Amino acid sequence: MPDVSRLGIHQGEIGPICDYCGERLTFGQSIPIDSKYACHECYQSVSGANSSSDGKSVPGLTMD
Ligand SMILES: [Zn+2]
Repeated sequence: MPDVSRLGIHQGEIGPICDYCGERLTFGQSIPIDSKYACHECYQSVSGANSSSDGKSVPGLTMD
């Protein structure tokens, strides 16, 4: 359940704020982790124990 008080305005639209680095995101950019939101970078560092090398795509994510 998103916490509305943590939402911010980014690129003209309301979106979540990354709970890990505080970056403002759009919903398209954000990745929910449990009750938190993360940007792609933090999502990889939080979930990706195997993301020691960069340039990897995260399975299950669609990135255009
Ligand atoms: Zn982040």
